Amino acid sequence: MTTETKTRRQTCTDHCAGCNQHFHGLGAFERHRQNGSCALGGSAVASKGKNVGQPLLQAWTEQGWCALQSGSTRDGVIVNWHHPVPIWQVYGSSYSGPTND
Ligand SMILES: [Zn+2]
Ligand SMILES: [Zn+2]
Repeated sequence: MTTETKTRRQTCTDHCAGCNQHFHGLGAFERHRQNGSCALGGSAVASKGKNVGQPLLQAWTEQGWCALQSGSTRDGVIVNWHHPVPIWQVYGSSYSGPTND
């Protein structure tokens, strides 16, 4: 038995201060940093290795909520969320959020 909250938000766990993209997991965050600069999540591809040309990231959700960039809080609750934002995860990782279909 799970204890679901009323609204289940998909929030970024890692956030890049340089390009303001949102990531689900540190691995995804690290993948968008290439040669010292930020790759756009949807267009980040492997530039070397056996998977060259393969995508590095995929959207975890296009309807995410940014917990880190969001604004004011009231009574400890964020009242001014950044939403919707795309949140990226490592390409090929199993989908752990709600389905979009
Ligand atoms: Zn970045
Ligand atoms: Zn964020």
